[in-house]
Amino acid sequence: MISQRLQDAFNRQLVHEMFSSNLYLSMAASFESAGLSGMARWMHAQAGEERAHAMKFFHYLVDRGGQVKIGAVEAPPFEWPLPLAAFETALKHEQKTTAAVNDLHTLAAAEKDHAAGAFLQWFLIHQVEEEASATRNVEQLKLAGDNNAALLVIDHQLGKRE
Ligand code: MG
Repeated sequence: MISQRLQDAFNRQLVHEMFSSNLYLSMAASFESAGLSGMARWMHAQAGEERAHAMKFFHYLVDRGGQVKIGAVEAPPFEWPLPLAAFETALKHEQKTTAAVNDLHTLAAAEKDHAAGAFLQWFLIHQVEEEASATRNVEQLKLAGDNNAALLVIDHQLGKRE
């Protein structure tokens, strides 16, 4: 059985992951409108991943006899300055997510819930990857600057994401 404090924190993280999913979906819409279909595809894939993260918390709560409470998910902005600013926001968001997962891990330790700690390890390791890929995208877009040919190369590259 999961503790009340940890259950509440996991439910908040579930909502955070759903917000992440909607955030990237909103960015995908802006990239679609701008004709940057590779970047849109990348954002769609990211949105799908975040939804899968939310479901990991969902199933974990169920497995531990906790109650899943789907809270309100804040609406993300509708419009994004593209492409660099959107990817910079994505990087900042991933850094926030890393901090949230770190806090959850600290809480699990305080609650002496080592199984929850082990569950969160996957997210801690995954966040290293998330931040690295978000940073890479930002750096490449900075290098491209206003060069449309370079932007299209990056768009093509990001569009290869499964
Ligand atoms: Mg996530």
